[in-house]
Amino acid sequence: MTPNDEAGALDHAPDVAASRVELREIVEELDLAAQETAGWLALFHRSAVCKTEPDPGLVVDDAHATTRFGRWYAERRGAGVFDQEAFEALAATHQALLNHVGILARRAWLDEKVPSGEYDALVKKIHAFEDQSQRLARAFRAALSDLDPLTGIQNRANMERELKREQHRALRSGRPCCLALVDIDHFKNVNDTHGHLVGDQVLAAVTRTLEDSLRPYDSIFRFGGEEFLVCLPDTGPEEARLVLERIRKKLRGAALAIGEDQSLSVTISVGIAQMAPRRPVEEITERADTALYLAKEGGRDQVRVWTAELARRP
Ligand code: GH3
Ligand code: MG
Ligand code: MG
Repeated sequence: MTPNDEAGALDHAPDVAASRVELREIVEELDLAAQETAGWLALFHRSAVCKTEPDPGLVVDDAHATTRFGRWYAERRGAGVFDQEAFEALAATHQALLNHVGILARRAWLDEKVPSGEYDALVKKIHAFEDQSQRLARAFRAALSDLDPLTGIQNRANMERELKREQHRALRSGRPCCLALVDIDHFKNVNDTHGHLVGDQVLAAVTRTLEDSLRPYDSIFRFGGEEFLVCLPDTGPEEARLVLERIRKKLRGAALAIGEDQSLSVTISVGIAQMAPRRPVEEITERADTALYLAKEGGRDQVRVWTAELARRP
């Protein structure tokens, strides 16, 4: 079976884990690839129906490699999100489609009879390409809408699902997993003093600091306005506390650039709670929130870990 015969029959949902910038580029390029391919097909049909000489671009060897889509994919192939079956299959279908177009365009121009089965096979390739590219674009578009536009991290839409997955993973592996709620201190003052736009820049800068300071398999969600939720798999409460302490110190000493020659720094308060296998994730988040409340009450700019004693406080 050739890849183009497997149209739309990919076993797995595409892996869409990519940055917002990358996701946006992929969605755009997939849309452009569909338009570009439709353009080539229109040229082919015109030359076949009107018996005019086919466009040279149609009959070159490996036309796929000369297209915008072909060149774009060739530069990225095998790296990160592009290293997956769905992209390989799409590129193979595109290549097979354009090769087929080239062969039929040449034969039509030489006035050779093209059996109807040959043309039907081409139509099948066209549909395969449409199916595969639309399916990929849909998956990446959905991933893009799950990201918060300001900070580029995941919003709350799929946080619950992701956290439940981490909870199950922790249960299976027997390894701890912690949640941390991070809240910027007196953030309202930043807005009031410097304006909302600067506030937005600070939110983006804090996000970058969090991302740079965490491991690739930790996840960050924009929990609310100036609150972030961090999930730390394979991490017990003491280790989580050390990680968040490091981030707290880094942020309070950082000069966050806000415009050309201005900077400011902010502090954060953090509440941490360990996942418990039989407790709903919402309850663990509430525990982290209780610890965060104590960090605020204790004077802000500090990290607190939830313990059972805290629960017994009035
Ligand atoms: P605390 O130390 O107790 O957390 O004080 P705070 O001022 O950080 O907390 P408060 O809840 O009083 O105010 C949060 C502020 O965050 C108010 C709101 O306008 C601002 N905020 C929420 N979302 C955004 C946003 O997307 N952009 C900007 N610039 N500000 C935001
Ligand atoms: Mg808050
Ligand atoms: Mg705050």
